[in-house]
Amino acid sequence: MKYVSTRGRARPLDFTDALLAGLAEDGGLYVPHHWPRLSAHEIQSMAGLSYASLAHRVMHPLVGDSIASGVLKKLIDESYAGFDHAAITPLVQLDHSHWLLELFHGPTLAFKDVALQLVGRLFDTVLSQRSETVNILVATSGDTGSAAIHAIRGRDTANIFVLHPRGRTSEIQRRQMTTVLDSNVHNIAIEGTFDDCQALVKAMFNHAPFRSRARLSGMNSINWARVMPQIVYYFHAALSLGGGARPLDFCVPTGNFGDVYAGYAARRMGLPVHRLLVATNENDILARTLATGKYTPGAVHPTISPSMDIQVSSNFERLLYEACSRDAAQVQALMDSLPQSGEFMLPPAAHDYISGMFSAYRVDEAATLGEIARTYKETAMLIDPHTAVGRAAARRHAGDPAIPMVCLATAHPAKFPDAVEKATGVRPQLPPRYADLRQLPERYATLANDLSQVQAFIEAKIQ
Ligand SMILES: *Cc1c(COP(=O)(O)O)cnc(C)c1O
Repeated sequence: MKYVSTRGRARPLDFTDALLAGLAEDGGLYVPHHWPRLSAHEIQSMAGLSYASLAHRVMHPLVGDSIASGVLKKLIDESYAGFDHAAITPLVQLDHSHWLLELFHGPTLAFKDVALQLVGRLFDTVLSQRSETVNILVATSGDTGSAAIHAIRGRDTANIFVLHPRGRTSEIQRRQMTTVLDSNVHNIAIEGTFDDCQALVKAMFNHAPFRSRARLSGMNSINWARVMPQIVYYFHAALSLGGGARPLDFCVPTGNFGDVYAGYAARRMGLPVHRLLVATNENDILARTLATGKYTPGAVHPTISPSMDIQVSSNFERLLYEACSRDAAQVQALMDSLPQSGEFMLPPAAHDYISGMFSAYRVDEAATLGEIARTYKETAMLIDPHTAVGRAAARRHAGDPAIPMVCLATAHPAKFPDAVEKATGVRPQLPPRYADLRQLPERYATLANDLSQVQAFIEAKIQ
């Protein structure tokens, strides 16, 4: 399988090269050259497979022959061995037609572990084979950073530099990053927002001499290898709930659009995904884009669901590419107009394509807290604020009651204890593996939102 850039001016790469590259050299994002299609019969025959075996079946055609099938299987097995739940991503029934897909049973208690546990091992394997090392650069609003650190810590093939917005992650999120003291792990608190962190990372990748001098590599969801493992749990849910034959709706709390785009990819691979709900908090660029056809990034508002406090939704470009019938020149022109005019209009055909598959809902802070309380009252379950944004959006959606609605539960409630306690009066407890998190020493640097300072810090560390 070859990977092509959404902007059409970077050389197509195989899976392993796209993995190491992250962002394409033309500023675009890599997507598969074509969507491997599984027939209804093939999908239904996967019912009953273990999560790891299913993951291998779904991902093997996307990886192609750039990694030996047996090696891929071993990496998948190791990636999910460290999860706390035997089903890896269990489905929990909420009422007659609503379900929660719990994606937070990995080492850092958010769905990003599902992808990053594998991505870390893929990096390590490919780099060892090539006798290379890289410096991984990640911007995080909280969850990506810890999941990436836990996937890379202690490996000889990579250092990792993680930029988080100072004071804008929860304390648990910060401690899950800053208490990892392995010498290859470097945390940087930036005086700014997540979008500032993301802009710094993009600027370093776009600065060709620095990029090659520092041997930079990315693990943000702009990296195709981050999206790919997330496709698997859509299959897992559909196979658990109706053997893969029955259409399902999915509701996805969304920030950078990676997770919900994986649902789109599952659909393109043949899974009967009926509708994809994009649930946003008050940072509602995607809800506005779907409603108006106009993509206009605004200012970021901090919310109680900080992993979705994003106004530049990187992975949306991957959908845009499909919605523009894979016309890379059109995508390039739209993305080029962003810095100049601060917005772009979706071409009408692209807007129709997206509206035909996706619905979007904006959930404000009061509704998020209200949803945590309501779910607790109805089911005695504590849900985290990101999951609550999804649940609230799913309730508003007037769908076909005969089609099950699966809401992705993206974080463990104990990652955001203040919001959960405020809504319910109950303080969620961290799982035993984090019992001593508050006592552990932290290590991190604090830097201004200034490209040259951040570059100097990284260069000094990798000398
Ligand atoms: C990252 C994250 C999201 C948003 O996922 P995207 O792929 O960026 O859309 C939602 N919830 C939680 C808990 C997250 O960590």
